[in-house]
Amino acid sequence: MKLSGRARGISPSPTLSVDARAKELAAAGERIINFGVGEPDFDTPEHIKAAAAEAMARGMTKYTAVAGTLELRQAICRKFARDNDLTYRPDEIVVSCGAKHSLYNAVQVLAEPGDEVIVPAPYWVSYLEQVKLAGAEPVVVKTRAENGYKLIPEELSGSLTPRSRLLILNSPSNPTGSIYTKEELAAIAEVAVRAGIWVLSDEVYEKLIYDGAAHFSIASLGPEIKQQTVVVNGVSKSYAMTGWRIGYAAAPAPVAKAMADLQSHSTSNPTSIAQAAAVAALNGPQEAVAEMRSAFAARRTYILERLNGIPGINCPTPAGAFYAFPDVSAYFGRRWGEKTISSASDLAAFLLEEAKVAVVPGIAFGNDRCLRFSYAASLEEIAEGMDRIAAAFGSLR
Ligand code: PMP
Ligand code: GLU
Repeated sequence: MKLSGRARGISPSPTLSVDARAKELAAAGERIINFGVGEPDFDTPEHIKAAAAEAMARGMTKYTAVAGTLELRQAICRKFARDNDLTYRPDEIVVSCGAKHSLYNAVQVLAEPGDEVIVPAPYWVSYLEQVKLAGAEPVVVKTRAENGYKLIPEELSGSLTPRSRLLILNSPSNPTGSIYTKEELAAIAEVAVRAGIWVLSDEVYEKLIYDGAAHFSIASLGPEIKQQTVVVNGVSKSYAMTGWRIGYAAAPAPVAKAMADLQSHSTSNPTSIAQAAAVAALNGPQEAVAEMRSAFAARRTYILERLNGIPGINCPTPAGAFYAFPDVSAYFGRRWGEKTISSASDLAAFLLEEAKVAVVPGIAFGNDRCLRFSYAASLEEIAEGMDRIAAAFGSLR
């Protein structure tokens, strides 16, 4: 069967694949601890669910404007003003079926064959595939552990060519948890403005930051950078709403219009009922966000302590998101039965097989020395998973 070159070139989301494999093993009766997929384990707060039920009851079951209801876009504008010191009009906002869809639309309207898109590594799994789907070329720039895996201005300048079109920035980062400071963002913005490239700023983990860290949107650092930035955010992570599929983008009006026009031929509007829920999430009480954040903070402290208790592992403290991303290369060269462990991918396979713990190999994020542990799980589960992992690592000779 001949599929298009586009389809042939695509690889499935490795995070979702690890999750699917873990669920398959669990369905077959294995007791799997799942540190694989990045998804809050909390339920969506009640007042948000109630808003959806109320929307359904009042008949909000029809198509809406493609870019989202005016009510939701206004709520998003208020959120940007309140949290990010950013002023947008509703015609600069496009609501999509998850932040992943917002990112997809943005890449599709900004990049084309012949363009280079700069993607700092470690990167989130979908960026490269989305760039390739637009026919553009990803230029992966390896960042350094000693810089907290953050792109420094010299690395950005060094990767620019006349074909550079777009930089994809993710702060707080999945998988490293790194957060760019305001000064670091300003330095990146200066290079981007000078080079005249677009910035796609993925800020979906904005609300999940710890130890008093602050989140800044690069778009808020001046009118010039704002004019060449698309900010992406969503409700999946902040409000435990992954299944509702609501993400949004803010961009200069012509870009927002192009994204909405593109969307008008694929999904049309995101689900009307989920949009009503998102209005309640953004306009309603924010206590649940703080509660989830403090639960994540406790889990982070715990998993770091456990990871750092394993000989040879020294895990950097992630400032945000809900992932730990330790370098496990101290275990390369050890024997697992007949095999010699030579990559983090081997270790991920080993942990799934021997410890029944699912983690995502770093290669999914462009780094095969690290493993990603999602700690969006209960403390009890983290404890059991870490007991198993410590025992499994301890058994490697
Ligand atoms: N960006 C990053 C960095 C993510 O980790 C995720 C989570 N899947 C997304 C975007 C997409 O989120 P959504 O569920 O809103 O599509
Ligand atoms: N963002 C989550 C992760 O990185 C969800 C999986 C996905 O959307 O690919 O695990």
